[in-house]
Amino acid sequence: MVKQTIQIFARVKPTSRKQPQGIYSIDEDEKSVAALEIILPRDLAEGFVNNKRESYKFKFQRIFDQESKQDAIFDIIAKPVAESVLAGYNGTIFAYGQTGSGKTFTITGGAERYSDRGIIPRTLSYIFEQLQKDSRKMYTTHISYLEIYNECGYDLLDPRHEASSLEDLPKVTILEDPDQNIHLKNLSLQQATTEEEALNLLFLGDTNRMIAETPMNQASTRSHCIFTVHISSKEPGSATVRRAKLHLVDLAGSERVAKTGVGGQLLTEAKYINLSLHYLEQVIIALAEKHRSHIPYRNSMMTNVLRDSLGGNCMTTMIATLSLEKRNIDESISTCRFAQRVALIKNEAVLNEEIDPRLVIIRLKKEIQELKDELAIVTGEQRTEELTQVELDELEEQIKSFLEDQDPETRLEVGSDMRKIHYCFHHLKKLLNERKIPEKSESSQETKDQEGEMPLKEEEFKKLRDILKQRDNEISILSEIPGKSPLLWRKRGKKEEMSLGRQEAFEIFKRDHADSVTIEDNKQILRQRFAEAKALGESINEVRSKIGHLKEEINQRQMQRVALSLTDNAVGDQELDPVEEKLRSEMEEEKKSYKKMFTRLKGLKVEIEHLQLLMEKAKVKLKKEFEVWWIEEAANLQKKSLPANSLRTPESQQQQQSQSHLANKSELISRKIMPSPPPSSRIQRSRFNNPSVEESGLISKKSPPPSILPSRSCEDRFDIPNVEESDLTSSNKVPSPPPPSRNQKNRPNSPSLEERVLGSPSLSIPFTGDSQTDTDILAFLKARQNLLQKKGLANN
Ligand code: ADP
Ligand code: MG
Repeated sequence: MVKQTIQIFARVKPTSRKQPQGIYSIDEDEKSVAALEIILPRDLAEGFVNNKRESYKFKFQRIFDQESKQDAIFDIIAKPVAESVLAGYNGTIFAYGQTGSGKTFTITGGAERYSDRGIIPRTLSYIFEQLQKDSRKMYTTHISYLEIYNECGYDLLDPRHEASSLEDLPKVTILEDPDQNIHLKNLSLQQATTEEEALNLLFLGDTNRMIAETPMNQASTRSHCIFTVHISSKEPGSATVRRAKLHLVDLAGSERVAKTGVGGQLLTEAKYINLSLHYLEQVIIALAEKHRSHIPYRNSMMTNVLRDSLGGNCMTTMIATLSLEKRNIDESISTCRFAQRVALIKNEAVLNEEIDPRLVIIRLKKEIQELKDELAIVTGEQRTEELTQVELDELEEQIKSFLEDQDPETRLEVGSDMRKIHYCFHHLKKLLNERKIPEKSESSQETKDQEGEMPLKEEEFKKLRDILKQRDNEISILSEIPGKSPLLWRKRGKKEEMSLGRQEAFEIFKRDHADSVTIEDNKQILRQRFAEAKALGESINEVRSKIGHLKEEINQRQMQRVALSLTDNAVGDQELDPVEEKLRSEMEEEKKSYKKMFTRLKGLKVEIEHLQLLMEKAKVKLKKEFEVWWIEEAANLQKKSLPANSLRTPESQQQQQSQSHLANKSELISRKIMPSPPPSSRIQRSRFNNPSVEESGLISKKSPPPSILPSRSCEDRFDIPNVEESDLTSSNKVPSPPPPSRNQKNRPNSPSLEERVLGSPSLSIPFTGDSQTDTDILAFLKARQNLLQKKGLANN
């Protein structure tokens, strides 16, 4: 058993602007503890609730300042936890902090660079590397990925995610067994045999999370995500199985309700988050107090799921993520306060060993067989399980004559065979019962037996049914994943089709989107890596064939020597052959370089896969943001054109319409021309990247309520052209030059966007893509439109 308090670490997020000096300081002089001092700026201290205290000091195991890198975070925080999980102890790492403070960055990683990958991918990589090294044991690894949103649990690895909305998915529920162990119903455990498979699952879950998110429910900041690696290990031949779980937890933003104070859904969500974080806090307070017998784990789903991690059988680590800017000072202080309380909790981690009954049965069966064999040797006869009918008849005959024999000295001789002895007793009992107990009671006995057995059967039946269901689930999951990645399969599954206008709009949206730079960059890197991998592969092949040749040569050389020694009567047999020695050392060299290149190739493979996943993710995000923008635009157009049609004289109506068309059009056009992203998507993105609470409140007020949104079928949801996709997949195989559309600065003129949106094909405008020229064209159009209006000819 290992007793340990929860380890707490702090990580300060880099600030975008230049930080005013002296808002915080880190003191790491003391042994194995570091102190973070937050100094309140004077202007804040005045109004601050806490009686004008001007500085606060908090202790942590270690504090990672702004410039800390992801590899250091992994090495110092996550690696020790991963090691103890490999040794059979449960482990948890959770990130706590306000929205935008870097929780997801720390736990999962940044979406842009390979070097930004966070604790989860690095830990997976480490774990699989260790498992491969250890050949003494057999390991199995499973992954589960749970999201808790508004107190409901969802399986992020559920393949139905993409086709149904969050509400329609089966909810993950908590079951507690008599030993108070928690089981999660409807949460799938997916086996991962390689790092690649595990990473795919992480990626699949993250994408599902993104898909489920709508502007109305910014679930990513308001939900908790628990990525769990389940490892079980066993030594060959042993019945003892070790199981350990590693939870990697990205908690919801810890900001308080007061700050999120807006109406409607947001408030409910805020309440829920704060409720579940509030319950987390209560559990932590209760645990930190000595002699508290009742810990309120049951109050919320999250505390239930993390029960073991908090004050139980687990080695737990907390990372307090801090965004130490002036406006976040109070949230940062409350995060640190929370951490200080967490640090008081003592956990007792035990080795999770259990004996697998199936393995015990196998072992016992083996033992029985050995004993039988031994017995056969001793008695000289082979013994079966059952007595033969002839033997039984003989016994019954013997018993009969034994009972009939009046001689008190008479004996029933059956020898030392226990089967015969047991049968005699059994038969005697039967005879006795037949004589003494009337038939009626016998039958009642029978029914009673049956009754006694019923509940058992029922239970067994239920168990079997559950197992069957689980197998069914597993099979259905497996059968839905024909290739390696369910995601890749999904893309192949249905050719996405969509209108030309939308396709074009998507092209433009994509070009203007800030992420396209990242995607381009990554594509570039990917191409380089591919080229490197290809070259490396070729070199490896060369070296391999070289080694083959050298081997061949050595063999021939040896054969020659043997032949020689035979004819020369074993002279020089022991002598070293300098040529052979040279060949050998050459081969050693080649082997070394082979190994080196192979290791590099393996590293490259992981990096390439990760980059591909990052790009896939960026692509899904892009599509999603496009969807939102597209719908908003459509709704705006509808809103603008509706009142104009309803009341007004034909003349003014005409005027109104043409004006609104023009206004819309110029808005669209300017969007098309300007390199900046469309406003709505900009808001959306800023929410993704640095979502402040006020901002998200603002947005939900601004964005249209769901009822306005045109209802879309699920298939409809992703029918955006596959252009990006084909780009990606083509680079997937061979480093090919980018398709022409990517390089074109000036795109072919594309009136269809306007046509589709404005519904007026006659208004097609030959834009050039050059901002100055297009602005001129626009000015000209406006002037023309004005003239036409004056003449009463507008809108034709
Ligand atoms: P949270 O999950 O706490 O809401 P995120 O992890 O999404 O916050 O971080 C918000 C933004 O800040 C993201 O764009 C992220 O990439 C960036 N970020 C966070 N921490 C760091 C860091 N240590 N270094 C660089 N960028 C960071
Ligand atoms: Mg986050």
